[in-house]
Amino acid sequence: MMSSMPPRLTAATGMDALTHAIEGYITKGACPMTDMMHLEAIRLISANLRDAVKNKPSGRAGMALGQYIAGMGFSNVGLGVDHSMAHGLSALYNTPHGVACAILLPTAMKFNASKTGKRYIEIAKAMGVKGVEKMDLATARKAAIAAVEKLSKDVGIPANLKGILKKEDVPFLAKSAYADACRPGNPRDCTVKEIEKLYLSLI
Ligand SMILES: [Zn+2]
Repeated sequence: MMSSMPPRLTAATGMDALTHAIEGYITKGACPMTDMMHLEAIRLISANLRDAVKNKPSGRAGMALGQYIAGMGFSNVGLGVDHSMAHGLSALYNTPHGVACAILLPTAMKFNASKTGKRYIEIAKAMGVKGVEKMDLATARKAAIAAVEKLSKDVGIPANLKGILKKEDVPFLAKSAYADACRPGNPRDCTVKEIEKLYLSLI
């Protein structure tokens, strides 16, 4: 069923699934049952998305399982500010949901890092980063974010919102993101002004 999906659609929906897994793993409501699902989803998606984009059957199978497990996790505990901010971009500019989520993910991860304890260590390990055991927390956090950036780049997702986001829309978008149902679950509480800054950092 998925073998006819074009590469760009595969990349966008796959990065959306990764965002579900990462936001679900660090959200305020995260619990041991969903942690188990989200970490396995991060592992499966990181290992298979590149091959799925190349339409390799093993990559497609791994992504089918990975996105499903991520869905089982986050539908129990919710997401965070990445999804809150992505929803407005899709509504205003028709940006594909997964592309919006993926572009925002490293920025949202950096913003949230201080409220995630040792969770980015587990994310880095699940993404296959080598030598995480020997890293201090700050280095492991950077490594987890770098692994997300690399995967995004490898599957052709733009690195920022240049050419998409218009500066004059930022106040409206930030207010909308603040009112979004996903925002209260974000591990770090944020104000409308802080969300504005996150948007502006990407143009
Ligand atoms: Zn999503």
